[in-house]
Amino acid sequence: MTTWQDEASRDLLNLGGRLALLVRGEGSHVWDADGTRYLDFLGGIAVNALGHAHPVFVDAVSRQAATLAHVSNYFATPQQLELAARLKRLAGTGERGHVFFANSGSEANETAIKLARLHAHKTGKRTIVSLNGAFHGRTMGSLSLTPKPLYQDPFQPLLPDVAHIDPTIEALEAGIDDTVAALVVEPVQGEAGVVPLPDGFLKRARELTTAHGALLIVDEVQTGVGRTGEWFAFQREGIVPDAMSLAKGIAAGFPLGALVTFGDHDLFFPGTHNSTFGGNPLATAVGSAVLAEIEDTGLLQNVTDRGAQLRAAVEGLPLVTGTRGAGLLIGMTLSAPVAGEVRDAAQRRGLIVNAPTADVIRIAPAYTIGDAEVDEFTTLFSAALSEVAASDM
Ligand code: PLP
Repeated sequence: MTTWQDEASRDLLNLGGRLALLVRGEGSHVWDADGTRYLDFLGGIAVNALGHAHPVFVDAVSRQAATLAHVSNYFATPQQLELAARLKRLAGTGERGHVFFANSGSEANETAIKLARLHAHKTGKRTIVSLNGAFHGRTMGSLSLTPKPLYQDPFQPLLPDVAHIDPTIEALEAGIDDTVAALVVEPVQGEAGVVPLPDGFLKRARELTTAHGALLIVDEVQTGVGRTGEWFAFQREGIVPDAMSLAKGIAAGFPLGALVTFGDHDLFFPGTHNSTFGGNPLATAVGSAVLAEIEDTGLLQNVTDRGAQLRAAVEGLPLVTGTRGAGLLIGMTLSAPVAGEVRDAAQRRGLIVNAPTADVIRIAPAYTIGDAEVDEFTTLFSAALSEVAASDM
C-alpha cells in the first residue's frame, strides 16, 4: 500500500529534478537564472491573467505604492470600495451583495466556511458538503473540504461535520438533505485535472440547496474573473449562488482573495471576521486595474477564441486523447499516465505546463495571448509529446 509519506517524497524528488530558478517575466514569457526563455502557459496556475509585467499591472502597483499602501481596517479606502462595487456589478449580486477581501483562495474559503457555520447555527443544520476530487486549499478549514489523503492525513483531525459526495447528480440527490448547512463546489475541478461538473449539476445543486435551506457556495478561485470566458463560471449555468470565493487571477499576480455574497449575511457585521492585510489599498487598486483592463479591452472574447483555437490545435497530436475545461483553463487527456514526463519534456524545450494528474496536462495561459503564442505553444508541445511517445514505444 502506498502511504502519504511515499507519495510526498516522490513529489519532492520530482520537483528537485525540474525546479528552475525564474528571475524575470514579460508578456507570456519568463526567464530563468541561466537566461533560458520559457513560454509560460501555466501563468502561476491561472494567476497571471495579464501575463508578466503588463504595463497596467506595473502602473497600478507603483502608483498605489506611492500613494497609500496600507491602512488598518478601522478605515475604508476608495480602492476597496471601487473593487467591491466592480465585483458586485460583474457578479450580479445586486445591492444586497457584500464583498470580504482576503489574501488568498484558502482564506476566501475559510471565510466561506465561517459563513456556513453561522448559517448552521442559525438553522440548526450541521454539515458542510464538498465534492470528491475537490481542491479548496490547505488551511485547516479549506483542507477539510479537500478530500485527498495525501493532503489531509498528516494533519488529522480536521473540521467535524464535513461530508464528501461524488460529483454526480445522483450523489447530489442522495447527499443534500435537511441536515446540510452548505454545499461547496468548484464549477471546474482544476486540481483534479480540469474536470467540469456534469451538465445540469449546478442547476440541480441550486434547486436542492434552496429546497433544503442550505447555502450554495461556488469556489471560483481558479475559474473566476474571466478564466473560462465568462466573468464567473457559474454564470454559464444560469444560477445565482449564495456566495463565491475568488483569488488567483483577480489581481493577476498580486496576493488578493475575496468572498462575494449574494444576500444579507451576518458574517459582514463589523467585528465578526477580519484580516489585517485583506483588502488593503495596494491589492485592491491592482484588482480594480486588472478587472478594468479585462473589461475595457474585451479580453473575455479573446479567452473564448484562443481557448477554442488551442483545443483545435492539440487535437490529433501524439498521446492526446481529448481536451476539457472552458476558455483558457484547459486539460488535455493523455492515452497513458505520462503527464509528468510530458511536462518535463516540455520544460526542457522551453514550455511551462503542469500535470495535475498522471494522465492530464493543464494549461492556463494569460488572457492576452495571440497567434504567436498559440503557434509557439503548438510547436513546443507537439515536440514534447512526440519525444515522450517515441521513448515509450
Ligand atoms: N480553491 C481552488 C479551486 C483552487 O484551485 C485553489 C488553489 O489552487 C485554492 C482554492 C487555494 O487557493 P490559494 O492557494 O490561493 O490559497
